[in-house]
Amino acid sequence: MNQDDPRRRIPRTDHLLALVRDVQQQAREGRIAPEDVESAVLARVRASATTLRPVLNATGVVVHTNLGRAPLGPAAVEALVSAARYVDVELDLATGARSQRGLQARAALRAACPAAEDALVVNNGAAALVLATTALAAGREVVVSRGEMVEIGAGFRLPDLIASTGARLREVGATNRTHLRDYVDAIGPNTGCVLKVHPSNFRVEGFTSEVTVAELRAAVGDLPVVADLGSGLLHPDPALPDEPDATTALDAGADLVIASGDKLLGGPQAGLLLGSKQLIERLAKHPLARAVRVDKLTLAALEATLSGPPSPVTAALHADPDALHRRTERLADALGLPVVAHDGRVGGGGAPGVPLAGWALRLPESAAGPLRTGDPAVLPRVHDGACLVDLRCVPEDDDDRLLSALRRVLEAR
Ligand SMILES: *Cc1c(COP(=O)(O)O)cnc(C)c1O
Repeated sequence: MNQDDPRRRIPRTDHLLALVRDVQQQAREGRIAPEDVESAVLARVRASATTLRPVLNATGVVVHTNLGRAPLGPAAVEALVSAARYVDVELDLATGARSQRGLQARAALRAACPAAEDALVVNNGAAALVLATTALAAGREVVVSRGEMVEIGAGFRLPDLIASTGARLREVGATNRTHLRDYVDAIGPNTGCVLKVHPSNFRVEGFTSEVTVAELRAAVGDLPVVADLGSGLLHPDPALPDEPDATTALDAGADLVIASGDKLLGGPQAGLLLGSKQLIERLAKHPLARAVRVDKLTLAALEATLSGPPSPVTAALHADPDALHRRTERLADALGLPVVAHDGRVGGGGAPGVPLAGWALRLPESAAGPLRTGDPAVLPRVHDGACLVDLRCVPEDDDDRLLSALRRVLEAR
C-alpha cells in the first residue's frame, strides 16, 4: 500500500482488541456495569474519531508541552463540550442585540486578579506579545535586557517574534547583569515600550542582577512597562517562591502583564493580557486583535477554570507526598515492583529549579516503549537506565487503569 492509500486508516486489530479488553477489564473491576460493556466499547470507538490519543502522564512533569500542557478539570471540560454547540458568545439574549465576544471571560479574569483594571484573551502567550509590541511599538523600539532574550521552545525566540512585528529591539545590559541606568540611557523619543521577560525555562546564577518592575516604573515616566511572565500565576504561590505572578507585577506598576492560559493557570491554550483599562482597550481595538482572537471553546474553558475549584495543574503541584506514596505503594505491592524517591517538575518552561518531592515505580527501561504504545497509553520517565512511573500527574481515578496497563506490559515480557 502506498502512503495515500485510504486502507492505511483502517485501525489495527491489536488496537481494537486492546480497547475491547480495556472495557471488559473495567467491567470486571466493577467500574462499569456488565450490561454497559457494549455501549462503552461503541463510545470508545467513536471517541477515536481523532488520532490524538489520550495519555496517562506518568513523567511527574506537570505542565508537559508535548502532552498539550495543562489538562483541564471536569468543569472546564463540561463547559467546553457545551460551548461546542450554538452559544451566545456574541449575543445579548435579553435584548437580542449583538454583544462583544469574551466579555464574561474578561470579567472572570478581573475577578480572579483584581489588581488588573481590565483583561483581554488572545490565542496564546506569543500572540499576546505580538499584539502588545505591535500596538505599542511597531516602527519604534522595544527596550529589553540582554538577559531576557529567551528561546521559548522548539526554536522559537522571543526577539525574533518581536522583530517580526516591525518593532526594533533595543537590547540593553549584559547576559548576566542589567542595571537601571542601562534602560534609562536607551530610552528616547523612539521608544515604544519597555519589556521585561521572565526567563522561565532557565536560571542564571552567580554574579547577576536585574532591574525590578517597580524600579522601571519609577524611572521611565509615562512609557508603558510590559511584563511577560509566561507562567500565568495570578497570585504568589508559596510552593513556587521564585515564580513571578500577575498581581505582584501589576502592583509594582506594570501597565501590562502577559501570560499563558495553559501553564500554571491550568486552563486552555490562551494568551492573557492584564493591565490598565486604557491599554487593554487600545489592544482590543487594534486590527491585529481580530487575527489572534480566541474561539468560544477556549473562552468557555477559561471561564470555568477561573471560577471553578483548583485546576488539575494546581492539584498536581501541591500533591501531598504521603498520599502519593500510599498510591504508589499500592501499585508497587500489586505488581511486585520497587518504589524509589522521584522529584516531579513544574515543566512547561516554569520554575526550572524547583523539585517537587514524590515517588516513582521503577521498571526496566525496556518497559517504556510498550507502555507508550499500550492502551491506555502511558508516558513514563526514562532516566538512568530505568523506566520510572510517577503518579503525581495521574488522576487518582485512573490508578486502576494504570495498574492494568503496567500489568499487561510486565506479563508480556
Ligand atoms: C511560554 C512563554 C511564552 C509563550 O507563550 P505561549 O502560550 O506558549 O505562546 C512567552 N513568554 C514567556 C516568558 C513564556 O514562558
